[in-house]
Amino acid sequence: QSKENGKDRYTFFKPDMRADSETEARLERELQDAIQNDEFFLVFQPQVNLRTQAVTGVEALVRWQHPERGTVSPGEFLPVIEKSGLAPLLGEIVIDKALSAARDWLEAGLDFGRISVNVSPSHLASGKLLDHFNTSMDTHGIAPERVTAEVLESVFLNDTRSGHLTTLKKLYDLGVHIELDDFGTGYASLSHVTDLPINGLKIDRSFTRQMLQDPKKEIVVNQLIHLARSLNIGIVCEGVETEAQYDRLRMMGDFSIQGYLIARPMPFKETTGWMSEAADDLYFVI
Ligand code: C2E
Ligand code: MG
Ligand code: MG
Ligand code: MG
Repeated sequence: QSKENGKDRYTFFKPDMRADSETEARLERELQDAIQNDEFFLVFQPQVNLRTQAVTGVEALVRWQHPERGTVSPGEFLPVIEKSGLAPLLGEIVIDKALSAARDWLEAGLDFGRISVNVSPSHLASGKLLDHFNTSMDTHGIAPERVTAEVLESVFLNDTRSGHLTTLKKLYDLGVHIELDDFGTGYASLSHVTDLPINGLKIDRSFTRQMLQDPKKEIVVNQLIHLARSLNIGIVCEGVETEAQYDRLRMMGDFSIQGYLIARPMPFKETTGWMSEAADDLYFVI
């Protein structure tokens, strides 16, 4: 069992069950019910500028509160959501809950920077994404400048999906920030990035994790930071877990970081508490 899967955590797929279409069909039905029964909720993880420690964003991450199995991580069910045609439904729910939280924070006078929402490839392809963002921004009174859409780098690799670009360009023109998630794990060439409607890159946590042991990884991180600076776009470095990683990154520039060192993903109320404290004092010593 992998490290990510706690002993008592339910796993839907054992390796030898991956191709079992019956298991998958059952999970799909369960997920449909879960949407009906409002069993999905969000946790939130702050992003802070590594120099000023100001909160620059907060990422919304979906969880499934299963009636019997407890909290289920997205890695367990997103692949089925993607394949089953449920992605636009769940995506709409996630956007709505995220922007609703953002409105509550604004009303409480808490500056969270931007609310970051992960956008799935099928939702992007559905033709509904723009409408879902617009409706939710309207409902909750959130300006586009307060919103980031995180899209996977891989979304751009398939050029038959050029409709993706059109949708993202429309979001971008509205003022919604577009960030490429897990950057460095796909194969988008660096020159390709200059043609995309994007405001930032999220450096994948595999680089952060290996950076101190593997000089090549550190070179990539350095190059990405320089690339972003020369393109005048932002950087968020994912998966910062240790002071040593933080110290190294700090030598590389001025950008945002996200990871367990700053905060774990937290339920809404805990996030609100964290942000109130962050507004007052320093939460870790430089
Ligand atoms: P992601 O967007 O790259 O999100 C970062 C993941 O890394 C999250 O896992 C987060 O809990 C985890 N993480 C954050 N800091 C650290 C750290 O310091 N160390 C380690 N080891 N992990 C860290 P999570 O919540 O399980 O989400 C996994 C992936 O599922 C996300 O990767 C994203 O691609 C997808 N996902 C999550 N929520 C949503 C959603 O609402 N919609 C869509 N379409 N995808 C989502
Ligand atoms: Mg993300
Ligand atoms: Mg990521
Ligand atoms: Mg990831």
